Parts: sequence; C-alpha cells; structure tokens
Amino acid sequence: MLTELSIAGALRGLRARQFSATELAQAHIDAVGSLNARLNAYLTVTADQALRAAAKADQALGRGEDKPLGGIPLAIKDLFCTDGVRTTAGSRMLDGFVPPYESTVTQRLLDDGAVFLGKTNLDEFAMGSSNMSSAFGPVENPWQHAGKAVKLVPGGSSGGSAAAVAAQMALGAVGTDTGGSIRQPASFCGIVGIKPTYGRCSRWGVVAFASSLDQPGPMARSVEDCAILLRSMAGFDAKDSTSADRPVPDYAQACKRDLRGLRVGIPAEYHAPGVPPEVEALWAEGIAWLRDAGCEIVDVSLPHSRYGLPAYYIVAPAECSSNLARYDGVRFGTRVPADSLDAMYEASRSAGFGAEVKRRILIGTYVLSAGYYDAYYARAQKVRSLILRDFTEVFQKVDVLLTPTAPSAAFAQGEKMNDPVSMYLNDIFTVPASLAGVPALSVPAGLDSNGLPLGLQLIGRPFDEETLFAAAAALERAAEFVQAPSVRAGMAA
Ligand code: GLN
Repeated sequence: MLTELSIAGALRGLRARQFSATELAQAHIDAVGSLNARLNAYLTVTADQALRAAAKADQALGRGEDKPLGGIPLAIKDLFCTDGVRTTAGSRMLDGFVPPYESTVTQRLLDDGAVFLGKTNLDEFAMGSSNMSSAFGPVENPWQHAGKAVKLVPGGSSGGSAAAVAAQMALGAVGTDTGGSIRQPASFCGIVGIKPTYGRCSRWGVVAFASSLDQPGPMARSVEDCAILLRSMAGFDAKDSTSADRPVPDYAQACKRDLRGLRVGIPAEYHAPGVPPEVEALWAEGIAWLRDAGCEIVDVSLPHSRYGLPAYYIVAPAECSSNLARYDGVRFGTRVPADSLDAMYEASRSAGFGAEVKRRILIGTYVLSAGYYDAYYARAQKVRSLILRDFTEVFQKVDVLLTPTAPSAAFAQGEKMNDPVSMYLNDIFTVPASLAGVPALSVPAGLDSNGLPLGLQLIGRPFDEETLFAAAAALERAAEFVQAPSVRAGMAA
C-alpha cells in the first residue's frame, strides 16, 4: 500500500515514476476518509488543495525537477497558520479564523514540494499531554491495549499529528514542542519525533503558547524521514527574532554515521521514583544497544533537572498568560457582546477558552503579579539557568544523553483528568531539554506488556541534531520496532 511507504521510499518511487504524486495523495485521502471519523486526528481535511498540489508535483516530476519533498503528503498541526485554510489552535477562541498568510515552516515545506492533507487536532493552544483539552474532541490513539477495551490517548499536544502518522493517514507531520508535545505523542504512538534546538525552526506564523520554549519539529515513522523533513523546515527567518542564522546540514546523511567512540551520558536523575520497571528495562536495553554500536557509556548527573517540572509550570503559564491576552474578543474569533468593554472581554474569554487554558492563564497571571513575581517567576528563571548550566557542563563530558521519553505508555482517555499534577508528570523527562533549549528526539524502542509503544529520548548539544539522528538511527536498527497499530490491522483484515 502506498500509505505504508517511508518518505525516503516514496521519494524514490515518485522519482522512478512507479506511482504518481496524485495516486499517493489519493491513497492518503482515502485513508483519512476511512479512519478519521474514528480517530479524530484531522480537524480540517484539505483534499482538493492536496490533489492540486499533487498534480503540480507530478508536472514538476515530469519536467525532471527534483524537489526535496516533491509530492510527499503531510499533516500539519493546527497551530500553524496556513494561508486560506481555517486554523483553530484546538480552541473555540479562534472561531472563523482563516489566516491570510502562511507560517514560515509550512511555506518552506510547500516550497520543497510537499502536499498538505490537512490540519491536525491538538490540545487547546498546545497546552496538554493527552489531546483531551481540544475544543474539537479527543483524538484516539491508533494503538490498542492488548487486554482492555479502552480508547487510549495519543499523547499531546501534537496528538493528532502523531495519530495521523501512526495510522498511515500521512507520511509525516509537523508538530510543535514547548515541553514535550512532539516527543511524548511520538512515544505514545510508536513514531519518531524531534524537538530541534530552540531557534532552529522559525516560530513565525505559529500560534504562540510560551515563546521562549515553543519550537516546531517533524514527526514521522522513521529517523531518516524526520531528518529529511527537518532539513526542509529548518533555517534562518528574519521574521522571527529568535531564529538562528546558521547553515542547515544534511541531516539524512548523519543517520548513516558510525557511532564508535561516541560518548553517551546516562543521567542519574532520570531514574525517577514511580517509573514503571518496564520503562527502566527498556532504557537499560537502549544503553546496551548503544554500547554494542561502539559507544562509550558514561554515568552523569543533571542535579537541577528535578526542579524542571515546577520551573516549567511557572515559566510556560507566565508566557501563555501574556501571549493569550490578545484574545479579547476584539480582533480574533469569539466575541460575546456585553454592556461594557470589560464585560465583553470577560464574557468572550470565558466562552472562548477551555478549562486547562483558563487554569494556565490564572497561574501565569498570579506568578507575574506584583508581590509574587520574585517568589515565583524570577525564581523559576534562575532555576532554568541552573538547568541549562547542568546540560552545558555535562556536554563537556559526553556527546549525547539517553533517557526514557515518558514515564508511561499511552493511558486511557479520561484518565488523569481530575488531577492536573498527575497530567503534568507526563512531562517529567521532556521539560528539562525544553527549558535548556537543547535538541531532543524520541525514537520508538519497544512495546510494554500491554502491547503499547514506548520511546527512548536522546538529548544533544545545541544545534547538534546530527548526533541525535545518528544515535537514533542506531537505536532504530537495534530495536527492530514494527509499526503495527491495531487500527491498521483492523483495516487489512
Ligand atoms: N504537556 C506540556 C504542557 O502541557 C507540553 C505541551 C507542549 O509541549 N506544547 O504544557
């Protein structure tokens, strides 16, 4: 089936004219048609636009033009502004918003010949780890628990993107990661996802959550596919003042690197209490695989990473409370008329935002308020500096770090909903790299006893995504992970 291909394989097939971009797009549109009603991974399907783009890709291929992503069907997290296509950020607040411009990252993908299938579901304004906070209903993970008939979450916030890729409703997807939103759903859905170094991909045209942490990145079914996508997405953008002006390497080449002599750090603090033995066991297996590939394994310490979660849940809400102040009923989406301007603001924001977003705005406003700023926000920023310093010191001794991605496999829809802190604990392994701005990747490494995927995380030096791809490719080869979510098995039967 064309939907089973890797991006690298699809590019070869398209160039060899074994099938057309139109056939490839149609196969994906059909898959979306048969699976989306159940999974709710896409909020908007742009089938006509996809077929037009595919026809153009076919013409270009016919002329012998060789674009890096010519004819590759992708899913886009609905946090990216897409010219002329409804953009929701998973919120009612943006009702009716059709951006008149294209985000830099999606424009780069289009320029490289990609075909967009549609916009994928997410936690409202990317705040969450389960997709349960989307105003458009939850996403179902295409994987199923072997023993229990429950619907599982795909993780979040880029859960729609992860589910779409895992269920073969796209060859790859674009997500964003503020505290784990690419890596954790990638782990829950058995795919690969990378949060690049902060500044590697432009944030221009991405609906802002926490600007000092937000970072776009690719999600796909193989390490090489993520490498191919990142090369197109990354690069300097004058429209984003935090965008890094550095050359973009050929990441796919890096996947082939020999790992002999690479120093891999194992941070003691990631042996967190309460982490299931299966996660620990998989981590140990990952360590053995890298040792077998010729790496030197080094025990290291990141003493301040234990404060990562509390620091993140101050910094991220603080920035969100400021970024989301713009949704006041005047300029965007939802407006609830009222007697006075203040009452209109209040009524519009009450109606437009969901519970999790309101909680974060309240926390953020509190920690930034006079009297509490020093006690919370300023202190969290100091902790953040210490976390970064830990990474800087550790990367003098090792080249890359290996940890689990998440403390569990996918959980059931509705679980952890009454206890925000247990939901936030999902991010325990992912937020330190976000606070430090360093790149981190999740690669599927095995299944737990319930048949659900578990990922391993690699964390690297700033702008050294290449080492992450090299080490991830080695783990991928050793793990021999088979992407077989039950929803696909059901289709084939
Ligand atoms: N789960 C984290 C949160 O809720 C991370 C979200 C993200 O990375 N966008 O904030």
